[in-house]
Amino acid sequence: MSRLGFAVALFLLAPLASPEGGFPLPPREVFPRDMPRYPNLWVFVDSTLVSSYEKAVRLVTEDLRTNLELTENHGRLSNPEGTDFEATVEHLQPWRGADPALAHGHAFHIRYYNRPLERSGRHKVRWKGVEYYLVAASAHYEVEHGNPLHPDVESCPICGRTGWYAKEQGNLVERVHDPLGVELATMGKIRDERVVLPSGRPALGVCNTEASFVTTDPKMNTQRIAIVVLRKGWQKKKEYCVRDAD
Ligand SMILES: [Zn+2]
Ligand SMILES: [Zn+2]
Repeated sequence: MSRLGFAVALFLLAPLASPEGGFPLPPREVFPRDMPRYPNLWVFVDSTLVSSYEKAVRLVTEDLRTNLELTENHGRLSNPEGTDFEATVEHLQPWRGADPALAHGHAFHIRYYNRPLERSGRHKVRWKGVEYYLVAASAHYEVEHGNPLHPDVESCPICGRTGWYAKEQGNLVERVHDPLGVELATMGKIRDERVVLPSGRPALGVCNTEASFVTTDPKMNTQRIAIVVLRKGWQKKKEYCVRDAD
């Protein structure tokens, strides 16, 4: 076989696009056109842990819902962005800077994209010899929804283009709000600080982060993609991560 023929054969054999990190994530085209950003939170659920894809989705969404005190919205959404359903928690980390006009609390907002994965058959992948269900979400952290300043305050030390993110260029949601959302969903923290939930409890992430990478693929238009892997014993690892993190 010629070198070109070999390369073509290899391409055809590859079952899924293999972006940075070598994780078997599906291409952008699998998702609805009105999804504005590529999902930034990917949970691989070992298929032996659950009896169906629906249960894999529930395992992940229930963990996030209870540990971040999310309110889910399954009804008609004002801004659906191609999602299955969304969930939010409001009024976190109230901030009051020198300018009282900029005072605001924060919202964590997550949209799930699992129906398109299932429809296209991309909800199940084999990775390193193990079969996983894939659960995809787009998470971000921003100015709370009821506030007239929603969603952006560029100068905010919590949700703005400041600190670790001061040098980020381009869309604030993609470059700053998105990675902050991933940090809260996985670690229960924002900029390394534990977030306190409306009930007064500390926020707990799903933990079990296998990898996170900054992508350069223009179709993956979000600053960072996190890969979480739930395999047997994942709750133990979670307990450890929660204890260890404080
Ligand atoms: Zn939002
Ligand atoms: Zn803010």
